Amino acid sequence: MEDSGALFGLLESLFPVRFESRSKNDYDGLAGVVLMHGDRDAANQVSDLGLPVFVVLHDEGTRIPSEGAKVTLTHNSVLPRPMRGQTLEVRESLEVAIVAARTDEVVVATMQGEPIWVLGWRGGAARHFVGTPLPALAGKDFLYEHVNDKQFICFLPLIQFLRDLTAADAWTPPPIRASFIFDDPNLHWKRYGHVDYREMARHAEKHNYHAAFATVPLDAWFVHRDTADLFRENKARLSLLVHGNNHIRSELGRSFSEEEALALAAQALRRIAWLERRSGVEVSYVMAPPHGPCSEAMMRGMVRVGFEAACISQGWLRELRRESDCRSRIGLAMSENVAGLHLIPRFGMSSRNFRTRILLAAYLDQPVIPAGHHEDAANGLELLEQLASFLNTLGDVHWMDMKSIVRSNFSTRREKEVLYVKMFSRIIRLKVPEEVKQVCIERPWLDGGAAERFPMGKSRLR
Ligand SMILES: [Zn+2]
Repeated sequence: MEDSGALFGLLESLFPVRFESRSKNDYDGLAGVVLMHGDRDAANQVSDLGLPVFVVLHDEGTRIPSEGAKVTLTHNSVLPRPMRGQTLEVRESLEVAIVAARTDEVVVATMQGEPIWVLGWRGGAARHFVGTPLPALAGKDFLYEHVNDKQFICFLPLIQFLRDLTAADAWTPPPIRASFIFDDPNLHWKRYGHVDYREMARHAEKHNYHAAFATVPLDAWFVHRDTADLFRENKARLSLLVHGNNHIRSELGRSFSEEEALALAAQALRRIAWLERRSGVEVSYVMAPPHGPCSEAMMRGMVRVGFEAACISQGWLRELRRESDCRSRIGLAMSENVAGLHLIPRFGMSSRNFRTRILLAAYLDQPVIPAGHHEDAANGLELLEQLASFLNTLGDVHWMDMKSIVRSNFSTRREKEVLYVKMFSRIIRLKVPEEVKQVCIERPWLDGGAAERFPMGKSRLR
């Protein structure tokens, strides 16, 4: 590779790889090669050494106007199953070149019917040729802002190359997990605005989905008995999580002292515990911050009182960027830990490009959380049906409440009798296979040998 820039630094934090800048033909000791502005001759030299190679050919070939163009991913098995056969729209003007496929190569992606990502093999080593530029990152850019419906096609081939390259060290992610979230509803009555809970429970059963309602702790003072019963009887389809405390503007995003933040988080959870006692409905201790932002003092307060995670939007990620020097890879892992709290990304359910959002979340092993308000059900439940039916075609999709989603946020790796577990939540629910004699836990948020008490809970580990 040539000049690396910020992109390769970020990729190093996502994969067990280290990038080195090398001059042409100096490929000693490498596991694979990325050629920027490469050509087939240079690729051949790498392939002759038996090394996998990724070649950006975008200086050559006929250009295709990319804005509004349709990218089609083929059924090639190099792609993970959810991505195969999908057609997605690119919402950015990019310099994309057509890649001529040789007869012994297969097309992995096309744009407007023209090949832009081609895969071949030589001596068992993969050769990826792409006509898409690599995402251009400035120093403090978030890669996440490039991995979206605008530029996903620049990012996907390189990520896939690195995934294949590191497959031997790969962790097994959880299955695709999903839930809708509606902000604001409460248990005061059998409906909230356009949401009729009974109708939604039936609809969710019929179309296979789960709807979680982010309820405001201030509203916990009253519980409608029949509605609580409905939630208890349909807990596979309907559930609750937490939405702020009093639901005032930017409620969790103001500048708090540590004490103020702790007091607010504690009051929210006390009210929710009261709601649980009165209704008999279990609430996920997962926060959906009202209107988006959440300060780091607030996040620390939430962790201290027992919140397991927060579910946040992309807009909020940008807010965080101003406030925090947290790693710019945020948004690409299964969850991110900021100030001790795990953050799970969500996106607007009425988003025009919801297919891309769903696929990218699934590709990144993140829970798929389309979120909205009761107004999104104003014209009936067709939107939910549309999203759920698309999601349910992607494979074995597990629809669940937010607590279950958070507690299944981990990857595993097995070496004989040892089970390695990488946690992306503070609390997980792990079923240890009978043959496993040892479990090694990795908590990636504890950098540099930092220690944290390990809450064993009801562990039955020997
Ligand atoms: Zn709200």
